[in-house]
Amino acid sequence: MKLLEECKQAKRIGISGHIRPDGDCVGSCMGLYLYLKKVRPDADLHIFLEKPADIFSCISSVEEIDSEYGEQERFDVFFALDTASDRLGGAEAYFNSAVKKINIDHHISNKGCGDVNYVVPTASSTSELIYDLTEKEQLDEEIAKALYIGIIHDTGVFQYSNTSPETLRAAAKLISYGFDFSRLIEETFYEKTYLQTQILGRALLESILFMDGKCVVSVIDRKTMDFYGASPQDLEGIVSQLRSIKGVECAIFMYETGVLEYKVSMRSGGLVNVSQIASYFGGGGHVRAAGCTMNGTCHDVINNLSLHIEKQL
Ligand code: 5GP
Ligand code: MN
Repeated sequence: MKLLEECKQAKRIGISGHIRPDGDCVGSCMGLYLYLKKVRPDADLHIFLEKPADIFSCISSVEEIDSEYGEQERFDVFFALDTASDRLGGAEAYFNSAVKKINIDHHISNKGCGDVNYVVPTASSTSELIYDLTEKEQLDEEIAKALYIGIIHDTGVFQYSNTSPETLRAAAKLISYGFDFSRLIEETFYEKTYLQTQILGRALLESILFMDGKCVVSVIDRKTMDFYGASPQDLEGIVSQLRSIKGVECAIFMYETGVLEYKVSMRSGGLVNVSQIASYFGGGGHVRAAGCTMNGTCHDVINNLSLHIEKQL
């Protein structure tokens, strides 16, 4: 795919990513936004996302993100990044009505939902894909920073198996623009607020090992979230911590989103394909990291997931 060719004629260009945007979603959307702003100054450019977490305020122009979804006019080109159209939230209508729909993603569960699709499941992140698609002489420190944030978040700072030589080559080029990458990693990835640390502790304390220690589950209910004043963004990273327990092949973390409704996150050591399980329940993701929303009591949800995990193990 040739990025600039695909939107050459376009006057009105929109960009969006998935609901509850994570680092890769914010990084790839902002990276593309800053890039197009520079190379297509003539275009009427819009970016839509649910309000990103405060840690992403270090990305240039992040305040230009429209979280109100008030636009009425049709877009010539609309980009869906890091997701298929079903998780675009308020931007789904813009995507569906656009003259040309472009889908860029790295989720194996995404079959491609655009007129033009660039879905590469072997890529570490959507940010790495945006990097691939850019003309390198047009990159600058601010674009590089946004894309670098996306890559470090989806690779766990180059730790997960989705990290490839290409990922590291992209990262090497990106840090050459001179931003303080060490500080960026600390402040956007490792640093946690006191609240986040407390609720992490609570989730670890109340976790339950099962299937001979091969699985672990932890549940945070509405009442606990209210007690700590926690938002879903404050729960990121808990599932990875659970997966780090020695002997655990599959970790499940879930929090209550409504009456008999749970947002489920799963992580696998490699033996279990959690994308397959999440897709079965209407969600998706990657082989080792996936999620879905499920209905029932938390025991129903755990039982339903366990059946699938046990079959794979
Ligand atoms: P997390 O557990 O961190 O929320 O998500 C893990 C991975 O699965 C991410 O790549 C995320 O985009 C994907 N994912 C999480 N929840 C869903 C979902 O409900 N539907 C789909 N299609 N993907 C999801
Ligand atoms: Mn991603």
